[in-house]
Amino acid sequence: MREVGCPEEDLFSFLLTRRQEDLGYRNILSSMCTPPHPVAARAHALFLETNLGDPGLFPGTAALEDLLVERLGTLMHHPDAGGYATSGGTESNIQALRIAKKQKPVQSPNIVVPASSHFSFTKACDILGLEMRTVPLDDEFQMDAGAVDGCIDKNTVALVGVAGTTEYGVVDPIAALSEIALDRDVFLHVDAAFGGMVVPFLDRPVPFDFSLPGVSSISVDPHKMGMSTIPAGCLLTRDPEWFACLNVDTPYLTVKRECTLAGTRPGASVAAAFAVLEYLGMDGMRAVVAGCMENTRRLIEGMETFGYPRAVTPDVNVATFSCARAPAGWRVSTTRNGHMRIICMPHVTRDVVERFLADIGDMDA
Ligand code: PLP
Repeated sequence: MREVGCPEEDLFSFLLTRRQEDLGYRNILSSMCTPPHPVAARAHALFLETNLGDPGLFPGTAALEDLLVERLGTLMHHPDAGGYATSGGTESNIQALRIAKKQKPVQSPNIVVPASSHFSFTKACDILGLEMRTVPLDDEFQMDAGAVDGCIDKNTVALVGVAGTTEYGVVDPIAALSEIALDRDVFLHVDAAFGGMVVPFLDRPVPFDFSLPGVSSISVDPHKMGMSTIPAGCLLTRDPEWFACLNVDTPYLTVKRECTLAGTRPGASVAAAFAVLEYLGMDGMRAVVAGCMENTRRLIEGMETFGYPRAVTPDVNVATFSCARAPAGWRVSTTRNGHMRIICMPHVTRDVVERFLADIGDMDA
């Protein structure tokens, strides 16, 4: 650290230089995040100093967290769901598995996940000492529900399905998983970190949430398609009481117990997440999602006219192609199977899609 502080103008000129080295979202097609909605940025600024880790000091912000949980629970067809605002999908997935593991104390616990599961489950298994059993995918990149039953045994503490897979944007057969979970009496966690803010707003939403009786918990991330500021995730559980098993005593805080993974927690991004939901409403979110889905379809159609076939028809706004390279200046990503992957987030507007397609066309010319 410096002995004597840096003058503010010099400091900010240095910060600005570093900031300018960041890529603008303009040509980023590989991210599941997007610039925050203006109301999110405004709400975030208003709540900058709030700390949900000590909610008694910030009762107004804590009430907003409860409202966010209530809104998202209702969206997932369970207004009385339990929940709290996490730092994102990783924390939500870890916490869901902590609950599942505590509910079923066994000697050598395992979880059953699709081969498409997000790498946060690898972290969760490492932290929680869980064996990860991977179920293969079918031709549509969905978890093969027929192979699930054989992977479950008396040591299985949780079954996981994904609603909107990170790499291929498909929804696993959650209704079938729900049946299996009920039949085998296993905790079913649905990772809807991405799809949770997409599927409910589609014209024909596939069931993936608490409307299915076997679903125990859901991860949903406002900082992805919810256009909140980062970090804003949410873990929802069917029974609010389930969080009690995670409680630790917090003697010197305004609350006596805490079930969250983080101690100090931002209120700003929680207010931002709530603000977007409230400002846009179902109608506004449907319009945003319809636009993203339309752009996804246009991108797929355009890529196919250039001879780059889709890997799969996605359920959400993630498009994948057999295409080895992107035109210069564009950021795309590559799936573990080598497909080009593009997420049509709100910043990937129709203009952006057309510019990208034009560059793809020129690349081949
Ligand atoms: N689950 C899914 C399906 C995801 O797509 C992601 C991130 O892309 C995560 C979990 C992890 O979320 P986060 O990066 O917010 O921790």
